[in-house]
Parts: sequence; C-alpha cells; structure tokens
Amino acid sequence: MIPASKKIRLILELRQGGIMDTALLAAMETVPRDQFVPDAFRDRAYEDTALPISHGQTISQPLIVAKMLQALELNDRVKVLEIGTGSGYQTMILSHLCRRVYTIERHRELLREAESRFEAMGRHNITTRAGDGWLGWPEQTPFTHIVVSAAADEIPTALTDQLAVGGVMIIPVGDERREQRIIKVLRTEDGFDVDDIGPVRFLPLVAGMPEAPGRIGQARA
Ligand code: SAH
Repeated sequence: MIPASKKIRLILELRQGGIMDTALLAAMETVPRDQFVPDAFRDRAYEDTALPISHGQTISQPLIVAKMLQALELNDRVKVLEIGTGSGYQTMILSHLCRRVYTIERHRELLREAESRFEAMGRHNITTRAGDGWLGWPEQTPFTHIVVSAAADEIPTALTDQLAVGGVMIIPVGDERREQRIIKVLRTEDGFDVDDIGPVRFLPLVAGMPEAPGRIGQARA
C-alpha cells in the first residue's frame, strides 16, 4: 500500500474512534508521521499504534494524541504548553492548531532531533526547552491550554498553578501498577473541575533531568 492511502486509512480510523474536530483531522493529515519515527519503523508510521523512538521512549498513538488534543479545545489565537516533546509529532500537530507551542523535554538529544524536524518542516511557532516538565514554564504563565504526554502519579501542582482561570489541562494520571486515566482539569474561579476522559497507557512523567553521561575514559588528575 502506498503511504497516501495508509494515511487516509489512519484518518478514517480516527473518525471511527470519535474524532470529529475537522481542523484537528486536517492537521493530522498534514503532519508526516513517517518523518518522526526511526527508519526501521517507517513502513508502520501510519498504523494507529505507539512506536519506539530513542532513549526508551515512544511516539504516541495517533488516536490518543487526537483524543487529548480534541479535549483541549484549541483555537488559533492561543498558546499551548506541552510537556514531553519526544519525537515532536504532537508538537507539530499543535503548531497547526494554535498560535504558539511551548514544549519541554527532559532528554536533550530527543529535543535536538525534534528541533531539527521543526526546522526542516519550516515551523516557526514552536519554542523548546530542555527541562523538567513537572516545573512547567513559569516565565510564560498563565496558560489557557496545557497538555502532558507522559503519565504523572499525581497532578503536578506547578502545572495547575500555571493554568489560567477558564484554562484546560489534559494529563494522563496513574502509574505502572494502577490503570492510567486521561484527566481533563478545568480551572474555575473557585478551584478545579476534574473530568475522566478514559483509560490510557503512557510512559511515566519522570521528575528531574537524566544523569549527565559518565566520564569514562577520561584521564584522572
Ligand atoms: N508526544 C510525544 C510523546 C513522547 S513519550 C511523541 O508523540 O513523540 C513522552 C516523553 O515525555 C518522552 O520523550 C519523555 O522523555 C518525556 N518526559 C518524561 N518526563 C518528563 C519530564 N519530567 N519533563 C519533560 N519531559 C518528560
């Protein structure tokens, strides 16, 4: 099967999976997922499945990306905070749906690879940061829209603090032992409304940065 028809089949699967947002479907049709997966998985890029990327991480499943972004209720005037850039696939979809994306990734090498894809694809409304997403992006607060691409064992208070009143955060919550759920948090005048959107399976939102590489082989003083 040629890639174009694989892509059309994926878009049909997303529709069957309950994705009705036409701008979102158009963005997912535009973004070349095959450019975000390792060469070895290129022929599977349009399957509705998560696939391995480097550093033991995965590119998210298209239907899950679509469900989370549909729940985020975006428009082209807003800025979005994304935690867990990974391959940059979801970041790229977001960049078609909002004014600017602020995205944080804890693995510098993954971030560099994602940045070179954004550059090659000519997207200029993405701002990246190598850092710990548990801390959010304080200099850019408040955010009306936050999406987290890794599962937190509890909702990070730094992120809810950075949410504007009326703002929405979509975040998988749970750990490897418990079932994870996609949670929609809406900040109200008096607090937070929390909705359960459904089950999911994500890699964990890991606190802190990875260890710096060892200095094996270097001469000691
Ligand atoms: N949406 C991405 C998903 C990548 S998997 C894609 O489709 O490619 C989740 C990503 O979250 C991984 O790249 C992982 O390194 C990152 N991550 C985990 N904990 C993090 C944290 N505390 N801060 C920033 N990124 C984190």
